[in-house]
Amino acid sequence: MSQVFILGDFSGEKATKTTTELATAAARIGEVIGIVFAPVGLGASMAATINSGPISKLIVVESNDFAAHGVAALADALSQLVSTQSPVAVLIASHALGKEIAGRVAVETLSGIITDAVDISSDLTATQLVFGGSTTVHSKISHGISIITIRPNSFEADNSPCAPEIENVALVISEKSKKATITSSEPPIKGGRPELTEANIVVSGGRGTDGNFSAVEAFADSLGAAVGASRAATDAGWYPHSHQVGQTGKTVSPQLYVACGISGAIQHRAGMQTSKTIVVVNKDPEAPIFDISDFGVVGDLFAVLPAATEGVLARKS
Ligand SMILES: Cc1cc2nc3c(=O)[nH]c(=O)nc-3n(C[C@H](O)[C@H](O)[C@H](O)COP(=O)(O)OP(=O)(O)OC[C@H]3O[C@@H](n4cnc5c(N)ncnc54)[C@H](O)[C@@H]3O)c2cc1C
Repeated sequence: MSQVFILGDFSGEKATKTTTELATAAARIGEVIGIVFAPVGLGASMAATINSGPISKLIVVESNDFAAHGVAALADALSQLVSTQSPVAVLIASHALGKEIAGRVAVETLSGIITDAVDISSDLTATQLVFGGSTTVHSKISHGISIITIRPNSFEADNSPCAPEIENVALVISEKSKKATITSSEPPIKGGRPELTEANIVVSGGRGTDGNFSAVEAFADSLGAAVGASRAATDAGWYPHSHQVGQTGKTVSPQLYVACGISGAIQHRAGMQTSKTIVVVNKDPEAPIFDISDFGVVGDLFAVLPAATEGVLARKS
C-alpha cells in the first residue's frame, strides 16, 4: 500500500485537530505515516500523545537543531525522509510554517507543490478555491512526490483511537540548513480562545465596531469562538494584526463565521468565503457581505450581539 506522510502540529500535548484532519485526508490515499520532529529526549513522550486519527505509524526524529535552526532544519529532515522512503505524497498543514516547509521540501526533492487545498481525492487530485473563493481549481502534481498543504477545517476529522507503531530515525541536519540560528523566541500569548485558523466558529468585527470589540468578544466567548477582525479594524489598531482575516491576513474556513460591522470587501471575503455557514450583522441592508450570507441581521451590532449573547447563554444554562 502506498505511504502518505503527514506533518501536522505534533505538539508536546496532543495531536491537534489539524493533524487529525490531515490524517483523515491522507487515509483516502494510502497508509498514513505521521512525522514527529522532537527535541532530543522528547520524541517518545510526544509520540505517545498521538492517539487519534487513522495513523498507522509514526516516524520520530529527535534533534536539537529543530529549535536552533527552525524551518530550515525541519524542511531538511523532512526532505531526507522523503528522499529515502519515497512516499506517494506529503500532506502538510496549510499555515505559514507548513507552507514554508512544503516549499523547501518541494525544491529539495524536485517535486511539485500545491498549497491551500481544501479537498483531495484518492488519485491525488487536489481542489483549491481561488480568486476569493469564486473559482474552483482541480490540479494534480505531475513531477516527483506530491507535496500538498491542506487548509485547516477542510476535512471532518476521524477521531477514532489509534496506537501507531513507532519508528525512530536518526538523521543529521545538513550544514547548509544551519546557516541561520534562532537566538531567542517568545511563544504568542494565548488567551482562552481557540486559534483563529483552527476554530469551528469565528466571530469577526470590522469598522462598525468603532474600536469597541467588547460585544464581539462577549458573543465569541458565549459560543467558544475565535475572534477575527477586518483590516479596517486592525489597521486602526483596534485589534491585533494576528487576528486579521482576508487576503493579507489569515484564511479561515470555520463551520460558522459571524461578520459584525464588516462591509464585505473582496479582500475580506478572500479569507472567509469558504466558511460553511456565514451570518452577518450589519446596519446597512445594502452591505455587499449580505450577498454571501446564509443568515443576516440588519441592525446595530451593539444591540444585536448582546441580545444574541444573552440568548446563547440562556440556552446553555
Ligand atoms: C491589497 C489590499 C489588501 C487587503 N487585505 C485585506 C484583508 O486581508 N482583510 C480585510 O478585511 N480587508 C483587507 N483590505 C481592505 C478592504 O478593501 C476593506 O477596506 C476592509 O475590509 C473594510 O473593512 P470593514 O468592512 O471593517 O470596513 P467598512 O468597509 O468601512 O465597513 C464597515 C461596515 O460596518 C457597518 N456598520 C457600521 N456601524 C455599524 C454598527 N453599529 N452595527 C452594524 N454594522 C455597522 C457599515 O454598514 C459597513 O458595512 C485590503 C485592501 C487592499 C487594497
